[in-house]
Amino acid sequence: MQIENDRYPNPQKQGNFGGCLLTIIMLFLFLGFFPLFNYPSKTEVPYSQFRNQVREGKVGKVIVEENKVEYFLKTDLNKTKKTKSGKFIPPDKAYVTVPLPKDQTLPKLLEDNKVEFGVRPDGGRNWIFTAFGWFIPPFLIFLIVVWFTNRVQSGGGAANPLNAGKSKARVYFGQTDGKVTFADVAGIDEAKAELQEIIDFLKNPDRYTQLGAKIPKGVLLVGPPGTGKTLLAKAVAGEAEVPFINVSGSEFMEMFVGVGAARVRDLFEQAKQLSPCIVFIDELDALGKSRGGSGVFASSNEEREQTLDQMLTQMDGFEANAGIIIIAATNRPEILDKALLRPGRFDRQVVVDRPDKLGRLAVLQVHTQAIKLEENIDLSVIAGRTPGFAGADLANLVNEAALLAARNHREAVTLADFNEALERVVAGLEKKSRILNQVEKKIVAYHECGHAIVGALMSGQVEKISIVPRGVGALGYTLQLPEEDRFLMLESEVRGRITTLLGGRSAEEVVFGQVSTGASDDIQKATDLAEQAVTMYGMSQNLGPIALEKAQSSFLDGSPNSRRPVSSVVAAAIDREVREMIHNAHQQAILILKANRDLLEEMAEYLLEQEVLEGDVLYSYLNRVQAP
Ligand code: ADP
Ligand code: ZN
Repeated sequence: MQIENDRYPNPQKQGNFGGCLLTIIMLFLFLGFFPLFNYPSKTEVPYSQFRNQVREGKVGKVIVEENKVEYFLKTDLNKTKKTKSGKFIPPDKAYVTVPLPKDQTLPKLLEDNKVEFGVRPDGGRNWIFTAFGWFIPPFLIFLIVVWFTNRVQSGGGAANPLNAGKSKARVYFGQTDGKVTFADVAGIDEAKAELQEIIDFLKNPDRYTQLGAKIPKGVLLVGPPGTGKTLLAKAVAGEAEVPFINVSGSEFMEMFVGVGAARVRDLFEQAKQLSPCIVFIDELDALGKSRGGSGVFASSNEEREQTLDQMLTQMDGFEANAGIIIIAATNRPEILDKALLRPGRFDRQVVVDRPDKLGRLAVLQVHTQAIKLEENIDLSVIAGRTPGFAGADLANLVNEAALLAARNHREAVTLADFNEALERVVAGLEKKSRILNQVEKKIVAYHECGHAIVGALMSGQVEKISIVPRGVGALGYTLQLPEEDRFLMLESEVRGRITTLLGGRSAEEVVFGQVSTGASDDIQKATDLAEQAVTMYGMSQNLGPIALEKAQSSFLDGSPNSRRPVSSVVAAAIDREVREMIHNAHQQAILILKANRDLLEEMAEYLLEQEVLEGDVLYSYLNRVQAP
């Protein structure tokens, strides 16, 4: 089979499939259309002529087929040499003829004339046709499939369609891939305690199975981004010394219905092979969104439903004590399908919240282990200045500080580096390139001093004023850092905050008699806060403690809430209350600034010169602020 061997594509040489395919097709057509190639060349003769030639003794060898007779003349046969093995080699020239149907006289005629005759064993068809008939078409189809697959892969970057149903999970084996343990997770002790049981089970399953106790199959970690949910799950695997299979909920979602479900199946197959193990599904909400929600694309909804169904089926499918524990993470537990939270599925929920001050100190300690710190540095100062920071934010802060120290060619990271890093994180990068003209600078200086003076009176925690532009929008900023974590805000504090926010604009009014565009962000924030006070916290006397807004996720700050259906009368009342709250705050800010007009001038002048006002100088100014 020489020809086939030559043409067989080398699977490694993927680039040539197209060309190869073409050649094969050409060859195929060529062979099909040109019977001449079907050697040896055959001449067709009438049957009567054949019989005459036999009688004349010219015919040397006859091959009888079903409805055709092929024969060679003695003269031609004499020209070919026999091979050593005595195998018959047909001469170049052959003749064919079509016998009369059921001609019984032919054998006798041949025998009488002593002609060698027989039947061709393989049905008489040229092997090359048999080969092409049976072998080439499936081969061609195979080639086409491979070629297209190839094109899809190299072209759009889309995944190989033959692999679509494979899960994209990444597997970590703690021993080889860098072990994460509970020592690497800090500041979320309650969550750690809750997961201790899981580790114990994975380590000593017998103790539990003996008693007939069932370990939860699924644990849901709930908390804001960056609080260490992934880290925690990995640490559980590390502590229990089992493999860690990591996959994100969004990786199950594809355009085609059924692909996600296939991936879920594949994931669980993988888990069964690796058990005991931890399967970690990040962003569970991506696939576990409650069903029947509004969806623009029907198909994407259907895909999600199928994927979710498959997930539920698979979770129900394995034994409680099979050694597979699924840990999922989400920051939006309220949108999860209720079916996911039923017993036997994710029935255990662990809250992973942002750390408190001690927790933050612990996280800082973990992340500064590999960093050269200045001696006697007090990390608790930084912990105190970073309320609301999640573990990931703190890790980022430490890295920023280290980068700053390195840039300044310092031997070790100092507290000043941390403070600078903190400002960067809070207010964005310092933008030296944006140069304010003198008028702008003056406006910004008075604006910021206005915030500071009002803020000092309202809450007393101004840290720093700067008119060095930072970030995308801020031309100047007044840094207020709380001393401690706050979980509640008194009504007076809410009002004070609104007043402080309006302090900047009020200063512009008091000093210049007109306002600039620089206060838009303040106004936005003040209005949001006032609206929340009225519609969520019931701080309006007239409307009272009625919830006018539907509370949403407590973990995603900044997500817009939706108004409850209210009558137009109530809507008008809300607007009036909000406006009144803002108006009052504005009036109060103006009063305060008028009462401290001289101080405002002094501070602004200093700020214009120095650009930054902080520390003792700032406090000496702010101590002089008087209530109106
Ligand atoms: P999540 O999964 O909750 O979004 P990650 O686990 O991905 O958060 O956290 C990202 C990184 O932040 C971690 O790799 C780790 O370096 C750091 N980190 C977050 N939380 C903590 C913590 N509690 N203790 C130590 N490091 C943390
Ligand atoms: Zn402002």
